Amino acid sequence: MSQLSILAKNESGDDPFKVDFTADAGRLKITCTCPEGRKGLLCEHKIRLAANDLIALEHPGSRGRLLEAHVWVIQSELANPLLKLIEMRGEGKTDSPAFSELQEKVGMMMKDGCRMEK
Ligand SMILES: [Zn+2]
Repeated sequence: MSQLSILAKNESGDDPFKVDFTADAGRLKITCTCPEGRKGLLCEHKIRLAANDLIALEHPGSRGRLLEAHVWVIQSELANPLLKLIEMRGEGKTDSPAFSELQEKVGMMMKDGCRMEK
């Protein structure tokens, strides 16, 4: 099992949240210690770090580790749904049922794990 732990900024300025990327037996899981993340829900920290968003980092020095985690994401089944989710947000399509469905899918993939390419 390989794990990359990365701290994400807390928007309220309090202690940062820890996002864990875990690669185990060809599957990738992503968890977060924020209140939503602890309930297994999709949160901004997981989305932003999975998408290699450097602005979400607590410490700029962890960008190397973030890139490593991002490569895992790119190599996983999560890559396309995550890209689509970010695109739809950029296009302001967050009210559509398709967006909710996609959000749920991405959340489940991060929580339950998804397949990685070898
Ligand atoms: Zn979170």
